[in-house]
Amino acid sequence: MTHSRVSDSRIYPDGFKMSEVYFAQVGTSGGKGLLEQTVPLFNKAGFNDVVGEHDLVAVKLHFGELGCSSFIPGFYIREIVKAIAGCEARPFLTDSCVLYLGKRRNAYDHTITAHANGFSLSTTGAPVIIADGLQGSYVEPFEIQGKYFDIVDIAGAVADADSLVVVSHVTGHGLTGFAGAFKNLGMGAVGRAVKLSIHELVRPQVDRDTCDACAGCLKHCPVDAISIDKGGGFAVIDLELCIGCGECMTICPREAIRIEWQGDSERAQEKLAEAASAVIRQKDKIAYFNYLLNVTPSCDCWQHTAAPMVADIGLLASRDPVAIDQASIDLVKDAPCGYNNKYSDVNRRFRPIGGGPFDSTLSYAEELGLGTRDYELIPV
Ligand code: SF4
Ligand code: SF4
Repeated sequence: MTHSRVSDSRIYPDGFKMSEVYFAQVGTSGGKGLLEQTVPLFNKAGFNDVVGEHDLVAVKLHFGELGCSSFIPGFYIREIVKAIAGCEARPFLTDSCVLYLGKRRNAYDHTITAHANGFSLSTTGAPVIIADGLQGSYVEPFEIQGKYFDIVDIAGAVADADSLVVVSHVTGHGLTGFAGAFKNLGMGAVGRAVKLSIHELVRPQVDRDTCDACAGCLKHCPVDAISIDKGGGFAVIDLELCIGCGECMTICPREAIRIEWQGDSERAQEKLAEAASAVIRQKDKIAYFNYLLNVTPSCDCWQHTAAPMVADIGLLASRDPVAIDQASIDLVKDAPCGYNNKYSDVNRRFRPIGGGPFDSTLSYAEELGLGTRDYELIPV
């Protein structure tokens, strides 16, 4: 098991310190479970310095799409709420509306979905407040003058909060290969225009000779962009409607859908880092938890749940988003395979649908000065 990562290709100034990533491992720590270890982890990682007395604290998480069961359940979140409330602060649970037709498209549906999936004041101790308002248009523009964005719209309630606790479920992801803290912020805490811009490069194409018109992809397309052609022989994708989520490619049993990139996949990952940088810079008080449980090949946006790629690992906490995502990648790569033997090949665990590297988000984030990929893993 990897306990630290130090790049030997760079020379650091005197006094350079690796970032600290605190780790509660599943099934260790004197018989204590992850629930009991959450508050100690919060304190060890120094999060009580992040959350101030009377702060309105946005706990940015993913409530899961209706029908998904792999999201991090409310009883884990309740422990984080307890730790924040212990700082005399006022936590609320939040996420932003999505681009697709599912049950999180506006604040009304999203709140009902959150409730159905077990997130409410009575179950977690904190209210649910959808971050970008009733129709997903409540955002706060933030200037960054980046390579891709001059201005990033931050979801309003995240921007308004005094401090931010980012709770991420580590999974694979079709577009970026890996999903952790950066995906949670760069896609989950920003407005629709930014989300669309990150997905713009994906163009799915159906191989008509391979497709047998089973219609499986139609049921999974979140924007109803797929139909079967009039002759009934193959699927047809309306690229005007397609938002580039890549789900059809993941779901097709015949591997008949290929993704044509209008650019390279690294560009989408860099956009993600840049979007997240706006949130990180706007909010200087941020703490990060990454859950490495149910590490599925896709994120929790889908109405179904795939088998996890690896056995459960544990919970990480850090003040550095780059370090916590790097540590998550290293731990998942080291973990024994889950139920699907396909993932015994470590190189298949985080693969963007367009191919290429999956860690461009982290290398660009490091370049932007958002953290370091060199970290010390500290067990609690
Ligand atoms: S799931 Fe695959 S085989 Fe079935 S209709 Fe869609 S593209 Fe064709
Ligand atoms: S990538 Fe596929 S599933 Fe996603 S929106 Fe486009 S057609 Fe639909």
